[in-house]
Amino acid sequence: MDLDDTQEQAAYRAQARAWLDEHKSQAPVLDGAGALQDESEIIAARRAWQGKLAEGGLAGVTWPKDFGGQGLGPIEQVICNQEIAKAKVPGILDAIGVGMLGPTIIAHGTDEQKSRYLGPMLHGDEVWCQLFSEPAAGSDLAAVQARARLQEDGSWRLSGQKVWTTNAQFASYGLLLARTDSDVPKHKGLTMFIVPIDAQGVTVRGLRQISGEAEFNEVFFDDVALDADAVVGGVGNGWGTAMTTLMFERVTIGLGSEGMGYNSNRFAQAIAADADARRDPEVRHTLGEIASELLAVRFTGYRTLSALQKGQVPGPESGLAKITIVNGAIKAGDLITDVLGPDALSEDGEWAYMISFLPGLKSAGGTEEILRNTIGERVLGLPPAPRLDKGIPFSELRSKETAAA
Ligand SMILES: Cc1cc2nc3c(=O)[nH]c(=O)nc-3n(C[C@H](O)[C@H](O)[C@H](O)COP(=O)(O)OP(=O)(O)OC[C@H]3O[C@@H](n4cnc5c(N)ncnc54)[C@H](O)[C@@H]3O)c2cc1C
Repeated sequence: MDLDDTQEQAAYRAQARAWLDEHKSQAPVLDGAGALQDESEIIAARRAWQGKLAEGGLAGVTWPKDFGGQGLGPIEQVICNQEIAKAKVPGILDAIGVGMLGPTIIAHGTDEQKSRYLGPMLHGDEVWCQLFSEPAAGSDLAAVQARARLQEDGSWRLSGQKVWTTNAQFASYGLLLARTDSDVPKHKGLTMFIVPIDAQGVTVRGLRQISGEAEFNEVFFDDVALDADAVVGGVGNGWGTAMTTLMFERVTIGLGSEGMGYNSNRFAQAIAADADARRDPEVRHTLGEIASELLAVRFTGYRTLSALQKGQVPGPESGLAKITIVNGAIKAGDLITDVLGPDALSEDGEWAYMISFLPGLKSAGGTEEILRNTIGERVLGLPPAPRLDKGIPFSELRSKETAAA
């Protein structure tokens, strides 16, 4: 189903569709006959395709025109995602950079940072990664321990470890949250940096997942030198800068879900192909439940979209869309596995990747428990969870925790 396009949106849809019709034969083939196999060839082809999408106005749709974007709204971004999905071609490779990190640099970066980094990011010439999570700082992101120390000449020295860093294995740069002051409460002593992944002292190690891919990495920093102009958003303002990134992360996951194929028509078609399942009341009932949840989330998503289009910031309730989409798609994967049996997990099949990838998406972009806590506190007005670390300098937290244990 398309959005209820206005005249301008219908014109943008027609323009996107016409561009895709003309250029889709140049898109890299990732599935089925003739699919690229070699990992580095796939990355090179997807970077080149991202460059073409950017030239065609199908990347950075919401970025301002000054930075190579289209200066359009989130509804046009969804239209773009829908048309790319319909054309059955890959979208941009660097969804993290273009969807989350670029907008953070647009919001908080200096003019020099914007003119140096945004163009190559948009065109896929330089891929970016998000260096936020650490072994002891995921849900509790403000607990990051990677440490950047200010030098006398104004430069910085960075040491520490990040984990779950998607795309670091082929990234040129990362946006990294580090502690620059341990003598203030944990949210206050943080600073955001741009880090070149090929800098001396940076080591990237892949982590292989159940889906067979190694899209995550551990990244180690051993006394890495960073220039003074690597800081984004000001020293000590890392938390606010990180919140901008996370807001864009939730919006990207929410707006991208249709493009990822998590919609009930696709699930229903897979099940309807099996004559027995088609008549089975239990299967029909479960499919109906999934379809109604995903339909509800689609319209909730349209409400979020309308708010975004008016320039409003989506509230914490938009986290509910992420939870519902991911849980609905996991339930659909389970149902498809019940119906198709072991074929559902065949490597060449349509579903194995989705079934093995989705449990990870429960954690990415905020876990279900954390999103539900936020909704409980900020939307429903429930009492907040006790916070023992409030107002206490980061350097004293460990001793308080040990004393409380
Ligand atoms: C597909 C994927 C891609 C990712 N990509 C990146 C990336 O590119 N860059 C990056 O920086 N990070 C990335 N991450 C990391 C992601 O942000 C973290 O997994 C997430 O923040 C959760 O942190 P954690 O894994 O350390 O879990 P933890 O925070 O250790 O949580 C473990 C469990 O405890 C629960 N829990 C924790 N605290 C509470 C609480 N206060 N109340 C109730 N329950 C609680 C959680 O809900 C969860 O179930 C990615 C993760 C995934 C799965």
